Amino acid sequence: MTGLIMKYLGNPTLNKMEDSACLPGINGRMAFTTDSFVVSPAFFSGGDIGKLAVCGTVNDLAAAGAKPLFLTAGLILEEGFSIRSLEKILISMKKTAFEAGVTIVAGDTKVVERGKADKIFINTSGLGSINQSCGELSVSNAAPGDAVIISGTLGDHETAILKERKGLSFKSLVKSDCAPLYGMIKPLLRLGKSLHSMRDATRGGLAAVLNEIAASSGVDLMIYGSRIPVNKAVKAACGLFGFDPLFMANEGKMAVICDSGVKNRVLKILRKHKYGRKAAIIGEVLRRNKSPKVYEKTDSGGERIVLMPEGEMLPRIC
Ligand code: MG
Repeated sequence: MTGLIMKYLGNPTLNKMEDSACLPGINGRMAFTTDSFVVSPAFFSGGDIGKLAVCGTVNDLAAAGAKPLFLTAGLILEEGFSIRSLEKILISMKKTAFEAGVTIVAGDTKVVERGKADKIFINTSGLGSINQSCGELSVSNAAPGDAVIISGTLGDHETAILKERKGLSFKSLVKSDCAPLYGMIKPLLRLGKSLHSMRDATRGGLAAVLNEIAASSGVDLMIYGSRIPVNKAVKAACGLFGFDPLFMANEGKMAVICDSGVKNRVLKILRKHKYGRKAAIIGEVLRRNKSPKVYEKTDSGGERIVLMPEGEMLPRIC
């Protein structure tokens, strides 16, 4: 097993097989995060659990304005999980780590008896260095007048998982948006203090992210339904299951709250990158409020409150 993992993930640090990876020092602030991945099925259109495990963690670093540097990977395998599948997952981790510019410097593998885990679970932790030009990005920094921007279409990841699970077929392409986002975010960091909050819209979708920002910053937000980018297949899935793209999981979308004076620059920068082509300015921060709310002006011209999602529509989507 170690040989197989080293074959794909090996690098000078990992190859030493020490108890701990000894790393060079980092100047300035660091960001450190962890996440566990239990997605079912492990393979889906647009990705697999390996790609997801790298993207999920590097994107949390990117949201803090941090360049992903080092990753750890803990694999929990169910006895009998196919070596070929594991190989595919390792290749995908290697490719994604390469694209994200991150090195996997420590790892662990455990095998549990049949039935005690479902095929494969992965935990990754990531360490990144916060870009020096970056201001204090925080969910509590949104201020009245700020613009609300999303880096692309909503709901693609959750629709891809739904498709695999329910064996659905759609006329238009369904693909998870799973992608490492630091490359797209990096040029934004030059905007310094004009950039207020960033968060990748994963489980709970954009609705969860906006509610978190509203609550932490103590502000009301307004978004406009007609400006929210959604792919055709996601619309179809939403029609079928009564889902709302605002609440659906993404694995390659960043919500950005910035000073309104730089919103067009943010949009231009995002759209230049392959993962941000469909970025859109979708709303604004309205006012301070002791009981903050997120509002949506719907397509039909009505107004509704976008609540914090309770529980999960689909378990094990990431
Ligand atoms: Mg996140």
